[in-house]
Amino acid sequence: MLNLEKEIKKLEKNGIEMLHFDVMDGLFVPNITYGLPVLEQVRKVTDLTLDVHLMIADPLKYARRFAEAGADIISFHVESESDTGAVIGEIISAGAKAAVAVKPGTPVEEVYPYLDRLDMVLVMTVEPGFGGQSFIPETVEKVRTLREYLDKNGMDMHIEVDGGINDVTVSDAVSAGADVLVSGSYLFRAENMADAAGKLRNPGIC
Ligand code: ZN
Repeated sequence: MLNLEKEIKKLEKNGIEMLHFDVMDGLFVPNITYGLPVLEQVRKVTDLTLDVHLMIADPLKYARRFAEAGADIISFHVESESDTGAVIGEIISAGAKAAVAVKPGTPVEEVYPYLDRLDMVLVMTVEPGFGGQSFIPETVEKVRTLREYLDKNGMDMHIEVDGGINDVTVSDAVSAGADVLVSGSYLFRAENMADAAGKLRNPGIC
C-alpha cells in the first residue's frame, strides 16, 4: 500500500487495462480498505480506467463523490441498503458509468430491471470482503444465465467477474460470457505479470 504509485506503474507497463479499486466500509463487509482520498491520489498518477467497486452499506450517500474523485465506472451491490435505481441515477448524473454487483448467493435476475441503464454487471465469484479467496464454481452459471438473457434481448454489456480469477478458473468464466476479469493475487504473485495477463486474455492456450 505504501508503494501504490509504483504498483500502478507496474500495471501500466504490463498492459493491464483497468484498475479495480475495492472500497469496503466495515459495515457491508467486515473489512475496511480505503476510500475517497486514496482514489483522488490514484487518479492523479494514472490514465488507467478506474473501476471502483463499492462494497459499502449506503452507496447512495457516496456514489457521486467517488465519481467526482475520478472513478470511470462505479459498481455497487444490489444487496446494499440504498435504492438501486436511485444509485444508478446518481452515478450516471455525476458522469460515470454504472454497474451493479451481485454476491454469490444472490440470483442474477435481481439486476434485470436495471439493465437498460447499466454498462456492466459484476458477478462476484467469491464472497466479497477479502482478497485471496478461492473461486466458487457455481457462480459461473449466473454468468451464463445473464449472458443468455442479454443475447436473447438484443442487449450487449460487459459482465465482470471478481474473485479467485487465475489461469485455471478464467476458462469457465470466459466461456460462460464474462469479458471483464478482475485479478489481484494471481497477477501480483506472478513472476511475469504481462505473461500472466496474457493467459487470462487467451484462456485456451495456457
Ligand atoms: Zn472487487
